[in-house]
Amino acid sequence: MQKYVVAAAVIAAIAIGFYFFVLRDTFDPNSVRDKRVLVTGASTGIGEQLAYQYSKFGARLILTARREKVLQEVAVKCRHLGAAQVEIVPADMANASERETVIEETLKRLKGVDYVVLNHVISYPGFWLGNDKNLTDLQKLFEVNFVAYVHLASKLMESLDESGGSLAIVSSVAGNVAMPKFASYSSSKFALQGFFSALRQELIIRQKNASVTICVLGLIDTESAMVATKEHTPKMDVSLAAPAADAALAIIKAVTAKVNIMYFPLAAYLGVMGHKFFPTLIDYIVRGLI
Ligand code: NDP
Repeated sequence: MQKYVVAAAVIAAIAIGFYFFVLRDTFDPNSVRDKRVLVTGASTGIGEQLAYQYSKFGARLILTARREKVLQEVAVKCRHLGAAQVEIVPADMANASERETVIEETLKRLKGVDYVVLNHVISYPGFWLGNDKNLTDLQKLFEVNFVAYVHLASKLMESLDESGGSLAIVSSVAGNVAMPKFASYSSSKFALQGFFSALRQELIIRQKNASVTICVLGLIDTESAMVATKEHTPKMDVSLAAPAADAALAIIKAVTAKVNIMYFPLAAYLGVMGHKFFPTLIDYIVRGLI
């Protein structure tokens, strides 16, 4: 009898811990009001939704991506939604001097920064054939998906440290579980998680105020993801994709709470943890999606 009581107590403790540390929503929208935020990849998809969600909370925003006209349309909507300030800085993240412009304009126009959400992405899905095109694309992809993240984070770190702010790195299940037909994309996300997990450790050792949140996303219903999924992983059920607006809100909550790593949706967490414990099984399931 006694052992059943102990088992019940342990299960109850785990359930209470899970509720308090994982499920409980402590987000206060007012904590984002007037905060200075840079969002990259803000013209479409999750970045666009991040801009709208931050606007609803009255944040001050710098939005960047390559397409100026689309950014202007996003900015107009942000103002209607209640953003305290919205500025656009069109830039190609493949170009180091354009990245410098984003950094300078962010610090100049917002006079510092509280949150930096690095979200932009390119992907060249398809089998890795090892040809010249694969190799050329890989260089560009790493410049945009990895080097640009490190560049922006490095130059904005001093301001984040002054404000006690946070850096959000938008990653993927593919940065934890290798995805066939997405080898270059998947490896750039592994690289991001490795670099920024090490950087987080260094910030703690050096007693800095800035924090790093890695956001591990599963399938989200953005147009580019839906197109790539249908073409390259046709057995994946796209109806399971989570809404981009919900993903954006989950990112904002996680970065505001300064959590080290967040997973969205729950399936992302189950996929990553499943792979840790049953790698052969999960790899088999992943191959079945092609
Ligand atoms: P989208 O393709 O919808 O948006 C990508 C954004 O990046 C666009 O705003 C695009 O704007 C910008 N961008 C692309 N290339 C460049 C460049 N060279 N310079 C500057 N900006 C660029 O992506 P998602 O919204 O689907 O994904 C957002 C993030 O979420 C990514 O980091 C992705 O890896 C991650 N993620 C998404 C998942 C999903 O299922 N959607 C799943 C897991 C992770 P423009 O073309 O105007 O430059």
